Amino acid sequence: EGLDGEIMVGTDGGGMYRVVDGKAERITRDDGLTSDVILRIKKDEKRDLYWIITSNSIQYMKDGVVYEIKNFPYSNNFDIYLDVDDNAWILSSNGIYCANADDMIQKETFEYRFYNGDTGLTSVPTGNSFSELDGGNLYIAGRSGVNKVDINNFFHQSGRIRVAVKSIVADDQEIKQDENGVYVIPPTSGRIQINASIVNYNLSNPLIHMYLEGDEASGITANQSDISSLEYTGLKYGNYKLHIQVLDESNGTLYQDEVFVINKQPKLTELMVFRVLIVALIAILVGLLVWRIMTGTIIRKQYREIQAAKAEVEKANSVKSRFLANMSHEIRTPINTIMGMDEMMIREDASNVPTSYHRALMSYAAGIKSASESLLNLIDDVLDMSRIESGKIHLVEKEYNLEEEIRNMTRMVRTKSDQKGLLFNVDVDDRLPRGLCGDIGKIKQINLNLLSNAVKYTKKGSVTFKVTLEEMDEDGCIIKFAVQDTGIGIKKEDISKVFEAFERVDEEENSGIQGAGLGLDISRQFTKLMKGDLKCTSVYGEGSEFTFVVYQKIVDATPIGRFVEQRDEYKTGSYKPQFIAPDGAVLVVDDNSMNLAVIKGLLTSTKMFISTARSGEECLDKLKSSNFNVVLLDHFMEGMDGLETMVKIREIYPDLPVFAITANTEAGGEDFYLSKGFTGYFAKPIDGQLLEKTIRKYLPDDIVEDMVE
Ligand code: ADP
Repeated sequence: EGLDGEIMVGTDGGGMYRVVDGKAERITRDDGLTSDVILRIKKDEKRDLYWIITSNSIQYMKDGVVYEIKNFPYSNNFDIYLDVDDNAWILSSNGIYCANADDMIQKETFEYRFYNGDTGLTSVPTGNSFSELDGGNLYIAGRSGVNKVDINNFFHQSGRIRVAVKSIVADDQEIKQDENGVYVIPPTSGRIQINASIVNYNLSNPLIHMYLEGDEASGITANQSDISSLEYTGLKYGNYKLHIQVLDESNGTLYQDEVFVINKQPKLTELMVFRVLIVALIAILVGLLVWRIMTGTIIRKQYREIQAAKAEVEKANSVKSRFLANMSHEIRTPINTIMGMDEMMIREDASNVPTSYHRALMSYAAGIKSASESLLNLIDDVLDMSRIESGKIHLVEKEYNLEEEIRNMTRMVRTKSDQKGLLFNVDVDDRLPRGLCGDIGKIKQINLNLLSNAVKYTKKGSVTFKVTLEEMDEDGCIIKFAVQDTGIGIKKEDISKVFEAFERVDEEENSGIQGAGLGLDISRQFTKLMKGDLKCTSVYGEGSEFTFVVYQKIVDATPIGRFVEQRDEYKTGSYKPQFIAPDGAVLVVDDNSMNLAVIKGLLTSTKMFISTARSGEECLDKLKSSNFNVVLLDHFMEGMDGLETMVKIREIYPDLPVFAITANTEAGGEDFYLSKGFTGYFAKPIDGQLLEKTIRKYLPDDIVEDMVE
């Protein structure tokens, strides 16, 4: 090496020589060298000196004087290079030292850096080979290769260290960046390992700091050589910023901070929406459960209460029904007596009685008859009502002759209308079929109710009863019964009310007219049962029309032809029976002597032999001792009742005509008595005409003298 025309030469054991103008001057230990083995002399133009590397020290020579750099480690140092930043790079067989050249000269102690295999040196330098500084690049000959260090830029170069994500592994599955550069980690991943890739040619071993933003505590910091993977288990879902930072290993200066985006996808169960939904669902379920339990208990409680109330009502109802049945029986029995006695009074022979006296009596008798009929109707209506309420009303269908039934209806109404001086028109369609099948009892009751109302609520004018055939086919027909009157009429707003139970409209106008307001309600219920139609049209003050339409099965389609009404003359004075049969014998059985007297009275004019019995036993005795054509047997008797007696009678007299007499309409109609062995039955109060007519059928013709009017 040479400065200003001088040349410095180092020797291996003989110190060094300074050659000036061809003249060599030897420099030895005496001149300050610490060793005679000189490994390298390097001129330093900037400082105007020579750096001398000996076998045991680093020295320098300035202005001919040799100085020793103290406090510098000795480890087979063999070469020195200077960079533009005044750093001296000293190669040793352990590695490379780097220290500020001025500090080395001026300071007692100074900082130096040491680089070896741990800090990026790939091969340990060796003094046996030449290293070379070419431009800024120091090529360091090593035992197994060459290290290249850009010494001029080394400390500016940390920015050139390349850091990247080497791999992200989630549960053994490697995650690659997606098209947006984001590492998307599947929701189910448990264990996540992040490895950094550091590409560093700088002979340095910088600090690497890896962490997720916002969670620096769980990050890792280590020298590049020691860096391991950043690991997470159970990372929450969300977007994360992964920082891989490069810091100076000695003073911690941050050189680089690379950011990568990681997205951990949420599990369904992690989503807030999901959790809110689950909470809401649980709340709803709990609510529902509570509601169910509440309503369950409430409903059960209410159900029990309703059951109890129902049982109570049913009990009360059955008590009421029983009471009504009993009452009906109890009331019908005296009415039966009143009407029977009255009938007998009317029939009484008046030939020896003063006419005026007899007339007066007859008018009282008519009064009694009308009043008892009203009473009977009322009882019947109340009974019907209670039966409807307790659901005991059923259709009782049987075959009947329409003409005869219409005749019966008109006969009953005509008597009343005549008494009121009303014109009663009957108009029956001659195309109507003769034989029908249906519940004629209820049809009759509806029509009689409409007809008697018409008579009741009409002061003057007429009542018209019109029966028309509406439609007919092979099996059945639709019949329309229309009852028209010129009576008081019904106000428009009252029309719907009249069909309700206990409703009586226009009370002022009707004040003198008897009624309980039940008839039309019963009619409406019966109509419903028969799937018929009941309507009312009315002009207040002018009159009303009630129409009742019903379907009936046809038994005999022969048209009835011209309708002939049978007039029921209101006869007074001595009664003319339908027949006389002095040899006929009838046994009447009843435990009530009044009833016996009534029936006996009703049959007196036929001149038949009427025998009476007060009990079932007496009846059987009488049957044994004499012959009877007909037996009339009361249903309800003390001791052995009518039904039991009937059983005994039939054992001995299977063909004897026996008729039941009943005041209890509850017991059921004809079918019931036929099934018990009776030939037929009469309801109390007994219709005298019907009684005669029926008995006549069972008398042999040769003992009967029919009375033709
Ligand atoms: P009531 O026993 O009172 O006659 P109904 O149920 O048969 O009971 O009739 C109810 C009410 O309808 C009667 O009170 C009466 O006000 C009215 N009504 C029924 N038929 C007629 C009619 N033909 N003309 C005028 N009003 C009537």
